[in-house]
Amino acid sequence: MAVASKANNSKKHRIIGAGLSGLSAAINFAKNDEKVVIHESREDVGMQFHPNYQVLLKESPDTPSSEAGAKQYLNRWGLNPKFTFKDAKKFICSTEKRDFTISLKEPLPLILRGGENSLERGLANEAKDLGVEFKFKSRPKPKAGDILSTGPKRTDMVAFGAYYENSDFPRDQFLYMHDEKYSPRGWYLYVIPMDDDTIKIMNCCSKPYAKQVRKLLYKAVEERDILKNIVDGAKPTGTVGGQGGVDFPKTAIKDGVYHTGEAAGFQDPWRGFGMNYAIESGALAQRAISESLDYDKLWKKQFHQRKKADIARRGIFALLGNRAFEYGMRKVKDGDEVDWEEINPSGWKKSLIYNTFYSMEMAKKTMWDSW
Ligand SMILES: Cc1cc2nc3c(=O)[nH]c(=O)nc-3n(C[C@H](O)[C@H](O)[C@H](O)COP(=O)(O)OP(=O)(O)OC[C@H]3O[C@@H](n4cnc5c(N)ncnc54)[C@H](O)[C@@H]3O)c2cc1C
Repeated sequence: MAVASKANNSKKHRIIGAGLSGLSAAINFAKNDEKVVIHESREDVGMQFHPNYQVLLKESPDTPSSEAGAKQYLNRWGLNPKFTFKDAKKFICSTEKRDFTISLKEPLPLILRGGENSLERGLANEAKDLGVEFKFKSRPKPKAGDILSTGPKRTDMVAFGAYYENSDFPRDQFLYMHDEKYSPRGWYLYVIPMDDDTIKIMNCCSKPYAKQVRKLLYKAVEERDILKNIVDGAKPTGTVGGQGGVDFPKTAIKDGVYHTGEAAGFQDPWRGFGMNYAIESGALAQRAISESLDYDKLWKKQFHQRKKADIARRGIFALLGNRAFEYGMRKVKDGDEVDWEEINPSGWKKSLIYNTFYSMEMAKKTMWDSW
């Protein structure tokens, strides 16, 4: 969405947090010929992560799952960054019951986050070229009219990863493991080749297991043969981790401050995929401010339904755990090509299941403040 709106040249807009959502807002202000300063508490952008690949979801079934598709999506939101991209097509799936290999009809688009050639470095370069002012090591108190893009405020889920020196794991393959013992409540663990010499094993968990995520990863590496064979006694050369905070607020404007990305709770409690929410909410906050539009109406129109579906899926996976994955993959055999669209329920079945689980999850959140 390349935003063309009436420029407010007299005011310098202020954004706090130079992550995805802050950079998305900043670039869109600058493209609209508006002055903008972005404050970042760290000494550079992308310092909240060690380099890792993250899945950028497609916005519509018609967008291709490729580097061109990812760029098309970013362009639609006014962004034109340079970054490192990887396709994930071939997967070894591993559950408590079986290991099988699949290839995806539509590969998962993976974007580098953190460090050189990352998405945020690309966005920061684009922002600087457009004249956005950066203030590093700066964390001002937000005031009315600011955009607050400071990332997760809550810890609903965590991810912890360990890097290993390894050049044997096939470079065009990924491992995706659903095992309740190590990633309880339907979460997952994966192995991803980083470069020619390094792989990363990452585990994801949510409350009440979040604090055990690291211990559970190393336990899986010790106990599951498929991981033991990959690691082959090597010791980790580094680690990476982070948290995710999910909310479904009635309003994302508090005391006149526009909250974007995870600062607003715009995150996916099912898989922790928050990049799309961040990019879109950042651009929408800019548009709301520049055009005096209702930000709440804009984000609700854009992703209210998606948030509901993500919350419902979390409810399904929290209750059924790995059985939900096993059920979805029940007809898939070793070597099959898989189309995710066909695995997901559709029609009235989908509406019934999703509405029921959405209501249950929201009730749980109200009662226990947990997903
Ligand atoms: C390990 C891991 C793996 C993930 N994998 C995926 C994935 O595969 N797909 C996906 O879609 N999402 C994934 N996510 C989630 C995704 O990275 C986030 O949802 C997204 O980055 C949120 O963007 P944001 O703009 O809200 O915050 P962030 O990108 O976290 O940026 C916040 C910025 O604000 C700065 N900041 C914080 N406090 C202040 C302050 N007081 N003043 C100034 N600056 C401040 C921080 O330093 C940071 O630069 C993953 C997250 C983690 C941790």
